Amino acid sequence: MTQDNTATAERLIARFFRYLAVTSQSDAKATTVPSTPGQWDMVRLLQQELAALGIAEIHLDEHACLTARIPGNAPGAPRMGFCAHVDTVDVGLSPDIKPQRVRWNGGDICLNAAQDIWMREAEHPEYLPYKGQELLVTDGTSVLGADNKAAVTILMDLAHRLVAEKPRHGDIVLAFVPDEEIGLRGAKVMDLKRFPVDFAYTIDSCEVGEFIFETFNAAAATVEIEGVTAHPINAKGIMVNPLLVAADLITRFDPLDTPEHTEGREGYCYVTSMANNSATATVKINLRDFDRAGLEARKEKVRAHVAATQAKFPRAKLKVEIEEVYANIAESLGNDRRCLELMERGFKELQITPRIFPLRGGTDGSALSARGVPTPNYFTGGFNFHSRHECLPVEGFLTAYRLTERLIGLAAE
Ligand SMILES: [Zn+2]
Repeated sequence: MTQDNTATAERLIARFFRYLAVTSQSDAKATTVPSTPGQWDMVRLLQQELAALGIAEIHLDEHACLTARIPGNAPGAPRMGFCAHVDTVDVGLSPDIKPQRVRWNGGDICLNAAQDIWMREAEHPEYLPYKGQELLVTDGTSVLGADNKAAVTILMDLAHRLVAEKPRHGDIVLAFVPDEEIGLRGAKVMDLKRFPVDFAYTIDSCEVGEFIFETFNAAAATVEIEGVTAHPINAKGIMVNPLLVAADLITRFDPLDTPEHTEGREGYCYVTSMANNSATATVKINLRDFDRAGLEARKEKVRAHVAATQAKFPRAKLKVEIEEVYANIAESLGNDRRCLELMERGFKELQITPRIFPLRGGTDGSALSARGVPTPNYFTGGFNFHSRHECLPVEGFLTAYRLTERLIGLAAE
C-alpha cells in the first residue's frame, strides 16, 4: 500500500471501530421507528460530528433519520445522495461488537480463545481470495457490522474531507437511517424533502465490484377468512371451518413457483404464514417479481385464487388486501441513467471488475427508488454479512472508499 493509502486505511479503521462500539442492533418485534434506543445514540453521535464540521443543514427527525446537506461548489453538477443504515442485524448473536484486526496468511483464525470460536479455513473457502491481507473480523460472538457501518464510516470521513479540503463537487446529501434490517423501515419513513437529490447510492453490498441496480418488485398479500362456528355436536350443514378454507386457498398456488424452486431472474409467490382460530383464518403471501407486469400478474393470480376458493365456500367470507413493499430500482430509473453511467466511469478509472447481478431481495435503495429517488447499491468490500464470520478486508474497504470519493469527483467534471 502507498503511504497515503496506509494513512487513509488507519483513519477509516479507527473511525469504523469507534462506530462499532455504539451498540445499535434493530429489533423486529418493536413497533416504533427506530426500534431501539442504540440507534438514537448512533445518529446523535453522527449529528454532533457533522455539526462540528460546520455543516449548516443538518436535520434529525422523530424517526432518527439524520440528513446533512453539503452545498456544492460546481454549478450544474447533479445533486447526489448517499444513504447508509445505522442498525446492525439481530441474528441471535450478541448486540455488542468487539472487532479485531488480523493479518491473515492462511490457516484457521482463532476468533475467541475463551469461547473456542474459530474461522476454519476448510469450512470457509470464501476467505481464500484474501490470503495475505489484513482483515477486520469479529470476536466470534456477534456480527461485525460492516453491514452497514463500513458505509457510515466512508461517508463521515468523506464529509470531513469535503468540508476541509473543498474539492470540486455538486450538492451532496447524506442520509443515515435506522431499521434497514427489519424491513427497510427507516428509508420508508424518511422525509424526502430533507433528501433533495437527483439520484442516490447505498453502499450496502458485499465484495469489491458488486453493483446492484435490479431488485425485486415486492408486494404482500393478506387474505382474511371468516368461517362459521358451530358446536361439533350439531355442526352438520352449519360449520364452515376457516382452516380448511385457508388450506384450499394455499393449495391453489403453483408448488413450483416458490423461493425454493426459483433462482436468477424468476419471481415467486411465497405463502409465509397461516394463522387461525375456530372463527377466522389469515393467510399471508409475499409476491416477488423483477418485472412490474409480472408482479401485477401475480396480484391478479392471488385475487383469482381467492375468488375460486370463495366460490367453493360460498358461506365463508374472504377478503384480500395487497400492499406494495418495495420496487425494482431499475424500473425507477426511467431515462435518467446518470447514476449508472457515473458508476461505470468510476469502475473503469479504478480498474474494478464489475459484478452485476439482479438481487433477489430489496435494499434501502429499493424503498427510496419506489418513492422516486433512483438509488442503486454498491459494495462495502466485506463478506459473510449477518454471520459471526462477517469480515471486512481492509483493501476492499479502502476500494469502496476510493470509489465513493471518485464518484463525487466525477459528478462535478
Ligand atoms: Zn445492510
